Amino acid sequence: MAQVAVVGGGPIGLMLACEVALHDVPVVVLERLPDIEHHPKAEGITGRAIDILDRRGLMIGVDGAPARPTDEERARIALGERRPDSLQPKAFPGARHFATMFVLRPESPDLLVPQQVLEQDLARRAAQLGVEVRRGHTVTGFTQDADAVHLDVDGPDGPYRMTAGWLAGCDGGRSTIRKLAGIAFPGTDGITTGYRAFAEIDDPGFHLPGWFRKDNGLLVYEEGPPRFITLEFIGPPASRDAPITREEFQAALRRLSGTDVTVTKIHKINRFTDNERQAETYRSGRVLLAGDAAHVQSQWSGPGLRLGLGDAVNLGWKLAAVARGQCEESLLDTYTSERHPVGAQTLEIQRASIALMRPGPHVDALRRLFTHLLMDEHTNRRLTAVVDDLHIEYDMGDPSLTGPLVGRYCPDLRLKTADGPVRLAELQRTGRPLLLDLADDPGLRAVAEPWSGRVDVVSAGCADAPADALLIRPDGFVAWSTPAGAASLTDALARWFGPPARAA
Ligand SMILES: Cc1cc2nc3c(=O)[nH]c(=O)nc-3n(C[C@H](O)[C@H](O)[C@H](O)COP(=O)(O)OP(=O)(O)OC[C@H]3O[C@@H](n4cnc5c(N)ncnc54)[C@H](O)[C@@H]3O)c2cc1C
Repeated sequence: MAQVAVVGGGPIGLMLACEVALHDVPVVVLERLPDIEHHPKAEGITGRAIDILDRRGLMIGVDGAPARPTDEERARIALGERRPDSLQPKAFPGARHFATMFVLRPESPDLLVPQQVLEQDLARRAAQLGVEVRRGHTVTGFTQDADAVHLDVDGPDGPYRMTAGWLAGCDGGRSTIRKLAGIAFPGTDGITTGYRAFAEIDDPGFHLPGWFRKDNGLLVYEEGPPRFITLEFIGPPASRDAPITREEFQAALRRLSGTDVTVTKIHKINRFTDNERQAETYRSGRVLLAGDAAHVQSQWSGPGLRLGLGDAVNLGWKLAAVARGQCEESLLDTYTSERHPVGAQTLEIQRASIALMRPGPHVDALRRLFTHLLMDEHTNRRLTAVVDDLHIEYDMGDPSLTGPLVGRYCPDLRLKTADGPVRLAELQRTGRPLLLDLADDPGLRAVAEPWSGRVDVVSAGCADAPADALLIRPDGFVAWSTPAGAASLTDALARWFGPPARAA
């Protein structure tokens, strides 16, 4: 019996499967599509998600700060043309837009990588870790009891039943798992209709290239292979699934450009809106939700992958520890209590961003004010941190823990160990918790000794050590730090990683 069944082999399902498999827990991924979908989706990864991938050795090789890709390169990558060099992720520094105002100054460059490339990388990693990925298998139903989840699956050879200890629904925004689990999905309906397209028009001079705020919405036109984004505040599309006709897209371009431009050919197109919804809870018994199954959000500023990858690294090690019987099931409740507020805030930011893109003189005034406020370095950093998920702080459950970074993400410290220099990110590739002993304290190392099979202890020097010692969870968050003492370290180890081996 698979201990964990992940439904959905998109980026978040694959990432979660890898996270669980790092702890030697058998995982099966059930994915209805026979192959990775080549319809263009995300074109890049921003903020905390880049660091998350780095800490698992994924998408590395961008340290050399390559040049910003040209518009043509971006377009070709997004079009899914699979030139070998387009498979290299590229970092691009510089300002990023918030509600189409190019005002944010991110701390680290964004990572330009098409979603398909990320999915390929994750699929390779999953195979290396022994994850069984069943493509062409659709989950149609499930029941759960006190010990297991029983899934109904429609596979290439017909329907079958399978049993797993736990089920993770990573099956996207229209999640079957969420619906069958009876988890409500409240939120706000879309107020916009937009298109992203690679298309040809009969008059390339119909408009200047660039991003334009119009009286009735937004028009983006980029040259190279011509790429368009439109956004109109006309309510959501009547149907999200109906085929998009040339006439429909042309009409949107005409309304926004005020010209009678003719669309001659569409290479790729998708239609979108801005409904923002979030599952009421991310757990129902033995069923958990992650990624778009737990929250859907507008595509502006690309929060989907960032949020979902954050879910996966928060849930993976907890699910593995519970599946292995090392921790109580209640550990899984911290998944909802930690990640639900992060999702809720992201949806708020997305709503604010849509509001700031509405046409009209009142919003124009608000945008000018906003731009002015964001010239202040502190305000700019603060908004950028919120948008990029750099601000997250979790409750570590012990109010007496007041050490530096407790509850916050540990920066990628540069360390000197007996084996030579190493980055914290490299030490976290195993996905195991880590006690960083930065002041050579044998007493603290002895406290962690009963957890030696589960928690790595590394003694190192660090020029900018934030504390003498830090207990870092697999998701990079600090669970304990000095000056808190040995007793609270014991508590933190037991709280997050189960009772000590001898007492277990
Ligand atoms: C055009 C477009 C542009 C986007 N741009 C960005 C961007 O720039 N940045 C960003 O971060 N995000 C972007 N997003 C959002 C991003 O693509 C999603 O947030 C991301 O795909 C979520 O990943 P996921 O694994 O949770 O869900 P999905 O990618 O939707 O994967 C879910 C998987 O589950 C499978 N599945 C569904 N039901 C079943 C079932 N019953 N049984 C078995 N398998 C099932 C599906 O086939 C699918 O493979 C964009 C999305 C679109 C559509």
